[in-house]
Amino acid sequence: MDTPIPDYLVEVLDAVAADASGAVADYIPELAQVDPDQLGVVLATVDGAVYEAGDCAAGFTIQSISKPFVYALALQQRGLEAVLDQVDVEPSGEAFNELSLEKGSGRPLNPMINAGAIVVHTMVGDAQDPQGRCEQVLAGLSAFAGRPLAVDEAAYASESETAFRNYAIANMLRSRDSIVEDPEDVVAAYTRQCSVRVTTRDLALMAATLANGGVHPLSEERVVEEWVARQVMSVMATCGMYDSAGDWISTVGFPAKSGVSGGIIGALPGQLGIAAFSPRLDPHGSSVRGVEVCRRLSADMGLHMMDPPQPARSTIRRTHTVQYVDGSAAMVFALHGSLQFAGAERLVRDLADADAAGRLSDAVVLDLTRVHSINDVARRMLLETVRRLQLEGCGVTLVDPESTLPDPDCGGGVRPPVVATVAEAAARGHA
Ligand code: GLU
Repeated sequence: MDTPIPDYLVEVLDAVAADASGAVADYIPELAQVDPDQLGVVLATVDGAVYEAGDCAAGFTIQSISKPFVYALALQQRGLEAVLDQVDVEPSGEAFNELSLEKGSGRPLNPMINAGAIVVHTMVGDAQDPQGRCEQVLAGLSAFAGRPLAVDEAAYASESETAFRNYAIANMLRSRDSIVEDPEDVVAAYTRQCSVRVTTRDLALMAATLANGGVHPLSEERVVEEWVARQVMSVMATCGMYDSAGDWISTVGFPAKSGVSGGIIGALPGQLGIAAFSPRLDPHGSSVRGVEVCRRLSADMGLHMMDPPQPARSTIRRTHTVQYVDGSAAMVFALHGSLQFAGAERLVRDLADADAAGRLSDAVVLDLTRVHSINDVARRMLLETVRRLQLEGCGVTLVDPESTLPDPDCGGGVRPPVVATVAEAAARGHA
């Protein structure tokens, strides 16, 4: 059996193929030369499955899609505070190449507009070694892609000749000491960053690396730490889509970044990276058909971040009573799914209510057999509840055959017994 996903992707491309609206970017002469009919889409899951359709192996320059990844490198090297000191995280509502700075602080508003991206570029590597920095940026982008990337020298030369706007931005930044090097050199280096050649497949894997908390799904290399990936995706969500970021996040609903060569990426934390490519752009500078592909994927695949997840009540699969070998009774709470705050709150509330109503027997069994993950806050809530129950003389046994709840230490020397089955808990008697 073949998986239906590639067929679905072909269908999505067929549905948007006829749309020839928009225009290729021509302010960079080399970009005006591309075949405007190219169209591709790739999905990469966080566990390394890659699904492709259309022109997904065609090369093009990364342009602004480099911004989130170089922001990630700067965050990883300098830490959040140092980077925030230089570049804010507020949506600008302005075009990507606007000559604007935040009132008051004088910082660029965010790292996804050129002013912010140029400052962020200079925060990677050693300030004394601009050449080494360009190499580090290229190596970093390559690590995100999982293969060695290279600069498209023709595109670089072409953009360098017409980068007047970026020179203006860099001079503005230099006048405020936001950058301290020669503005022309900084623009040259930033332009090299934008001229790195990628394919749609590369971009999907780069996005999937962010979605996977900073670990490349195929190479399994940790490129950046999890907090970095979270910060980058947050800024992509609010500022990634030029001056249509608000419309994007409300309709498509996942962090994204587009670039003037026609690429667009989306990252859905814990699930997948998406990339689409089609060179004709809308008035905001985003790929017309790329945006439409993302809209369709979001609607068809339920990818909007604000769609409510599984309701918390479904955490408790069932409750029942078992007879212990010593004749006493235990109330079993069989849980399932992924335990986060809301699910743990529901369990704790049910336990407290049962206790208050005198329905809690002498002992409680928490059956975690079907729980596949427990986050930190849920773990702490669970263990504190176990501690409180035990203080009241109610024995608690955990059924946790796969150690989904690591190190069940409630503090103060309290550790509930852990067994593999409910039958085993009953056979042990009152703990
Ligand atoms: N290199 C381009 C510029 O700085 C990137 C712009 C973009 O993709 O939005 O003008």
